Amino acid sequence: MRDKRIIALFSGGLDSILAVKWMQHRGFSVAPVFFRAPYLLAERAIQSARENDIELEVIDVSADHQKLLYNPIYGFGKHLNPCVDCHGFMFRKAAELLEAKQADFLISGEVLGQRPMSQRRDALDSVAKLSGVRDLIVRPLSQLHLTPTKPVREGWVLPNDLLDFHGRGRYAQLNLATQLGVKNFPSPAGGCLLTDRNYCLRLKDLMDRGQESLDNLELLAYGRHFRLSEDTKLIVGRNEEDNNALEALFTDGYRVIAKQIFGPLGLVVGGEPDEHLLQLALGIFYSYHHKVNDGEPLIVQLFKGGKQVGPDKEYIGQKADRETCLKYQITY
Ligand code: SF4
Repeated sequence: MRDKRIIALFSGGLDSILAVKWMQHRGFSVAPVFFRAPYLLAERAIQSARENDIELEVIDVSADHQKLLYNPIYGFGKHLNPCVDCHGFMFRKAAELLEAKQADFLISGEVLGQRPMSQRRDALDSVAKLSGVRDLIVRPLSQLHLTPTKPVREGWVLPNDLLDFHGRGRYAQLNLATQLGVKNFPSPAGGCLLTDRNYCLRLKDLMDRGQESLDNLELLAYGRHFRLSEDTKLIVGRNEEDNNALEALFTDGYRVIAKQIFGPLGLVVGGEPDEHLLQLALGIFYSYHHKVNDGEPLIVQLFKGGKQVGPDKEYIGQKADRETCLKYQITY
């Protein structure tokens, strides 16, 4: 085993798997970390780590990462993804762990020229500058094209430890994956909801109203969202996974289900909706519950601080028409 230890930024994608596996193959002890936030979903990285025998630590950085959404120094990508600021932030966070993990330097799976905006040479430089630990960053897959940093200059890593990948092609990565026995890797997309058009529309809806609390951001990743008033939204689960996640995250507002008929969970959250708004929400909920017909009862429960307040209430109504649903849904 080599005497220097490494912390790796791990996204779960092929490049980050290869960076970790390659440096392990070269004899280094590597501690991969994934930084999560409400829109940086850890599930894909966890699964990818498990399938590739990588011991991953997931660290919540929600509150700090959220600050990047306001006025990032290097701006946004196609949607609300501040990629250069985000990478710089992640290296900075990883650097804070160096002492605790008795690690010496940082790596990532970044490949020069792989992504048109965030992995150009100047973008990699900007990331390094933002990180505050420029001299401790090694990008093993591309480092032979990059300025040597301290681990290279000091001989902690040797030329043979470093590769010369560059550009958008995946040939070199797939070859290395074969060499290292890496068989399971997710498709490049996914994991970061800041690159998802619809998620960003929902996020902007919250930010425009100053409602982007962490609780609200957590809910944003699941279900269909309807803006009913400045304060109040309806969220309807699209599938069992949505329902389970919404159920786990929900603390305050109205919980809506159909009486004795399995199907979506509805949440009416934010503000104190009056009867008219509640009826609007329930009408839309009816429309997205395909097993419930007009006139069949819904159960409405009021929750505060995660606990139900008062008894179940039964509500009988009818489906809102399609135009009404579309008018309120936050979507493109
Ligand atoms: S895609 Fe998302 S997680 Fe990746 S760098 Fe950009 S903002 Fe950060």
